[in-house]
Order: sequence, then C-alpha cells, then structure tokens
Amino acid sequence: MLKIENLHATVGDTEILRGLSLEIGAGEVHAIMGPNGAGKSTLAYVLGGRPGYEVTAGSVTFDGEDMLALDPHERAAAGLFLGFQYPVEIPGVSNVQFLREALNSQRAARGEEPLTGGEFLKLAKEKAGLLRMDMEMLKRAVNVGFSGGEKKRAEMVHMGILDPKLAVLDETDSGLDIDALKVVGEGINAIMRAPGKAVLLITHYQRLLDYVQPDKVHILSKGRIVKSGGPELAIELEREGYEAAVAA
Ligand code: ADP
Ligand code: MG
Ligand code: MG
Repeated sequence: MLKIENLHATVGDTEILRGLSLEIGAGEVHAIMGPNGAGKSTLAYVLGGRPGYEVTAGSVTFDGEDMLALDPHERAAAGLFLGFQYPVEIPGVSNVQFLREALNSQRAARGEEPLTGGEFLKLAKEKAGLLRMDMEMLKRAVNVGFSGGEKKRAEMVHMGILDPKLAVLDETDSGLDIDALKVVGEGINAIMRAPGKAVLLITHYQRLLDYVQPDKVHILSKGRIVKSGGPELAIELEREGYEAAVAA
C-alpha cells in the first residue's frame, strides 16, 4: 500500500530524512519508534505534503501512485490521514462544520455524493461514541480549549469520520492518561483494523502497542531506519533504551 524508497528530505537547509525506506502492506500496522529529533514528525509531514518540507531524493508510492506528485488535499482524498503530534486549534470553526466540509470535499474528489446534514450527524455520533466523546464537544471549535488528551481523542474521531485507507499517527498516545489510552487504542483498532487499511504508528512508548499490536516495529535514528523487527523489538527498546537496541 505504501512504499517509501531512499527518501531524503530537507527542512530549511538541513537534511532531516537521509535515505529512509519502508514498505507497508494492506492490513498491516507498523510502528516507528526513535529518539527525539530522529525525524519521526518530519516523515509524517513529508507524507502529508506540508509546505517547507522538501523532498530531495527518493520516492513514495501509495497504492502504486506517485504520492509526492499530489497536493495535500489530493493525498487526503486518496485515503491518507495524518494524526498530528500537536493538533492545531481552529477558533470559530466547529468540529462538525470542519469535518462535514472535509468529508464532502474528499467524497466529491472521489466522485461520490455528499452526505446530507442528517447523514453526517449520524456518522459523527457513531464515531464519537467509539471514542467516548460527547457530541457536544464536536459542536465546539476544533481543539479550542480541549485538554491534551481530548485533542488526541478528537483526532481519532476525525479519523473515524474520514475513514482513511492509511493512517499516519504521530504520537497519538502522548498526553493520554491510562483510561484514555485504552479508549484510543480500541478506537484505532475499530476504525483501522481492516483488510484494505494500514497504519503507521509513531510513538515513543511501548504501552500503546499493547492495544494496537504492530506487525512490524522500526527504529528511526538520524533520518533513517536503522533496525526493524517484530513487536518484541518495542519491548526490548523499552527495557534497554534506543542506544543499546541500535547497537545490538
Ligand atoms: P522527532 O519527531 O523524531 O522528534 P522531528 O522530525 O520533529 O523529530 O525533528 C527532526 C529534526 O529536524 C530535529 O533536529 C529538529 O530540530 C529539526 N527540525 C524540525 N523542524 C524544523 C524546522 N522547521 N526547521 C529546522 N529544523 C527543523
Ligand atoms: Mg519529538
Ligand atoms: Mg515528533
């Protein structure tokens, strides 16, 4: 589904991604772990097409198509979802307005009919329920006044509504208490654990992986993947730290 080959990317004048290769098949969950500053968020932004993140070499294909040739909104319509490490606040725009607009513009790009207001609200209620989020919160402005944990849960409601093929989730577990972590983990499984879908989970901690079990775990260091393994690699990392795991 996603094939990244020898990806090099710069931010400003600094090369951050330095020959990153990764392949994720449909139905798979991959985790990327790595120390601060390794380039994890940069990878997420490059996949999303954030301005200022320049790809200088390598390729990314999504369902066989050159993803780097698409604008961010085209990537989203093709089925890419990005969960942000630091979700932005959008004063004056409610979650409901924002999501209905986003969903219907993606549907239009795919040649699908828009959802009516009633259909949309029914869908939103169902997905909010999965994440134990009150509909009243979705009527409030996007992330404004939300706690760190509420922002992360709201991101997962967005994901549920947009129903992507590939979700790249950047530290979705950070800022969550133990109960919220379980709700979010179960939400990710309910929304994304399906044969035609895939997830790239970026995380510092093994704990989310207790709920969302990865098929593969990769260590990112200095802009490239230095080690890959199964779920046991995450446990080893937690126990020994990055330096020891990379050296082993
Ligand atoms: P991670 O998510 O793994 O902690 P990031 O991708 O956020 O790492 O950052 C990787 C490196 O890129 C860091 O050294 C960071 O300081 C640098 N970096 C990130 N954004 C910018 C930017 N806008 N300008 C310059 N350097 C940046
Ligand atoms: Mg970081
Ligand atoms: Mg980061």
